[in-house]
Amino acid sequence: MHRKTITELAEALHQKECSCLELTRYFLDRINRYNPALNAFITITEKEALEAAQEADRAFQQGTAKKLTGIPIAHKDLFCTKGVKTSCASKMLDNFIAPYDATVVSKLNHAGTISLGKTNMDEFAMGASNENSFYGPVKNPWDLTRVPGGSSGGSAAAVAAHLIPAATGTDTGGSIRQPAALTNTTGIKPTYGRVSRFGIIAFASSLDQAGLLTQTAEDAALLLTEMAGFDSYDSTTVEEAAPDFTKTLNNSIHGLKIGLPQECFPEHLDPKIKTVIDQALRQLESQGAIIQEIKLPHVMMGIPAYYIIAPAECSSNLARYDGIRYGYRCKGPVDLQDLYERSRAEAFGDEVKHRILIGTYVLSSGYYDAYYIQAQKIRRLIKNDFVKAFQSVDAILTPTSPTTAFKLGSKSKDRVNMYTSDIFTVPVNLAGLPSISIPAGFVDQLPVGLQLIGNYFDESRILNVAHRFQQATDWHRQIPKNFE
Ligand code: GLN
Repeated sequence: MHRKTITELAEALHQKECSCLELTRYFLDRINRYNPALNAFITITEKEALEAAQEADRAFQQGTAKKLTGIPIAHKDLFCTKGVKTSCASKMLDNFIAPYDATVVSKLNHAGTISLGKTNMDEFAMGASNENSFYGPVKNPWDLTRVPGGSSGGSAAAVAAHLIPAATGTDTGGSIRQPAALTNTTGIKPTYGRVSRFGIIAFASSLDQAGLLTQTAEDAALLLTEMAGFDSYDSTTVEEAAPDFTKTLNNSIHGLKIGLPQECFPEHLDPKIKTVIDQALRQLESQGAIIQEIKLPHVMMGIPAYYIIAPAECSSNLARYDGIRYGYRCKGPVDLQDLYERSRAEAFGDEVKHRILIGTYVLSSGYYDAYYIQAQKIRRLIKNDFVKAFQSVDAILTPTSPTTAFKLGSKSKDRVNMYTSDIFTVPVNLAGLPSISIPAGFVDQLPVGLQLIGNYFDESRILNVAHRFQQATDWHRQIPKNFE
């Protein structure tokens, strides 16, 4: 059962091969059995899920079931879920019960999916290894001594180990795509503005976007169709209605132009990763895609620009955690200043504090022009590079991550090294483009992902290419040994 995709599970439910309750119990059993080894979940909402499953079964009996009724999913623990702890993997929000649902959550509930719990992540989505969680690191199901990537590492590990058929994630600089690459899952980050950010705990508001970790591009298309669209609670969502992303999945890719940015295939790129990507390119070529070299001259300045802009926005967003309105409050404050200082000092982890400090610094007068404005200028140059490239190609292809899953602890002392994990993903967020990571092969038994970047609001195209690739390959069907 756990090997089935959402498309197949929906079929099984509609054919009455199993009930929603049985399906929910089945995945809850898997979560309870395997989560202790992986630490992919912060909260398991067993009671709520079983109730929702019974309601879903009633919908089937009454003939009101929708396509996705009864499909179990999980949410990254920064999506507000009404009545359920929403911690952002921080001690700061360890006691926070969300009073409402994020728009993504309510839309997916409305579509009939059932949430089985909240997945682990890097604290406030800051990290690329899931080692920054207050609840401890997540393990990669392909090798329990390695990281699953981050910050949506819990969602990625849970989907890779088939504890859940799909999970939501968010991506500010790579947090969906990089963990997808490291765990052999499919991860999509839509165009900025495609999916509502309402009820998602903010990290860097001009970069954050919600998306999905799934087994296949087809499942991603199914769920994204439900998630996307205008939301009056988020003024950055676009008003144009989102298309049905499943409709174009099977389109031919004959004649499609795929650009390869030379900058993303540097001399020092791991030759084994390069070989995997080359094989994938041959596969796409065999379906008629035309591969052509392109230039994105400023793309390698993405990481330095991101590590000014993202901390700047985070320092502002995280100012709200003052120990007063919600979240952690220190014991026995002597005065208001002490309350602020100790609540924040005691409840934020090191990486979060580091970024608040950098962010506050680059926004302060005297440094604003030297750092923040410069970074914004680089951001514009990167965006212009992409706009120009899309005048001659339909999609852009790069490796998702420069490395496969690395050992737990191996980069946690070396910030800059950790930050380079997102070297190929960060520029996409700076430009606000949609992109997807899909399984492309293995190096030393560890998964390798390839990234497809689309033009603005052209998620359909990258889902189409990803689907065609998955129809012709079976990398995405590989399951880690101990979770078969
Ligand atoms: N790894 C990047 C960071 O630490 C991106 C995180 C994200 O996309 N949320 O900021």
